[in-house]
Amino acid sequence: MIVPPSPLRLSLDSAALVANWRWLARQGGAAACGAAVKADGYGVGARTVVDLLGKAGCRDFFVASWVEAAALGDLADTMQLSVLHGVRADDMPTATQAKALPVLNTIEQVMRWKTTGLPCDVMIDTGMNRLGLSTKDVADGLLDGLHIETLMSHLACADENSSMNGRQLQQFKALDGKTSAARMSIANSAGILLGKEFALDMTRPGLALYGGVPRDEAIDNISQVAFPQAQIIQRRRVFAGETVGYGASFVAARDTEIAILNLGYADGYLRGFGDTGTAGGGRFPVLGRVSMDLLAVSVDAEPSLGEGDWLSIDFSLAEAARVSRLSQYELLTGLGNRYDRVWI
Ligand SMILES: *Cc1c(COP(=O)(O)O)cnc(C)c1O
Repeated sequence: MIVPPSPLRLSLDSAALVANWRWLARQGGAAACGAAVKADGYGVGARTVVDLLGKAGCRDFFVASWVEAAALGDLADTMQLSVLHGVRADDMPTATQAKALPVLNTIEQVMRWKTTGLPCDVMIDTGMNRLGLSTKDVADGLLDGLHIETLMSHLACADENSSMNGRQLQQFKALDGKTSAARMSIANSAGILLGKEFALDMTRPGLALYGGVPRDEAIDNISQVAFPQAQIIQRRRVFAGETVGYGASFVAARDTEIAILNLGYADGYLRGFGDTGTAGGGRFPVLGRVSMDLLAVSVDAEPSLGEGDWLSIDFSLAEAARVSRLSQYELLTGLGNRYDRVWI
């Protein structure tokens, strides 16, 4: 069967991606600025992100698992990929042959990797209790004999003004010089905005590269990267008193022109946008509930729109998160596989 173009597009702005990275890099001063490309580059496509940011000078990339590392394929010799979840027994045949480094998170992973004599990164837990070795593990000599490239920790509350941020930084910095690590790194996107002292030797932004605004400091400096667009299947008239969609939750107060779009919650346009989302820069409000594959918007504002026309869905992440009450991370990573991803 010949595959036609998708009725859904994710238009991706490469200039915005690169500009976001450059701005984040500048906020970190002399620190290197990496890029988290896990979850397929937060849904936009990790391979293209690596190629675009690599050209801009980014050297350090992060994925979650060795499956993601394998999907990404080879990186240029000047680039370094790190696998954040470390190395399972099942990963060893892959990891020991790869140029990518595991980020060791547990005593078991350290013991497993020590036998190889190969370089690695190490994650230190400074209070998140998610992944990472304790500072006591370090004091006990667990890391002795390991060839560590980058020692990392991760902030629990970087998007808030919490005293925990400073405490985590101090606890982490106390390990400076206590291991073989060439570099120290603690800041994600929000962490970069907490101040230069958080940048250390390398920063690891993810969300803000892709247009997410993790803290207000970034509002005027981070640009939207991912622009969902959906094609109109049909235009129709709803008469006063009639309803639209599941639950008949939208009741037309007057005769209303609507467009039915090829977009639904299976495309990551989740039900939080029902009756609240918009398309066309606010001109076309969503009417009623979001279906799995379909969406109704009011097109009274544009008599010329009809079958086959494309509408841009308003998806500026901070605003979309506010409207839908979802997190910017969920909005991005949920976008799904039915879009044609088109880099411009
Ligand atoms: C995902 C991740 C990042 C990037 O975080 P953002 O909040 O998306 O900037 C950095 N470091 C680690 C360990 C991560 O898991």
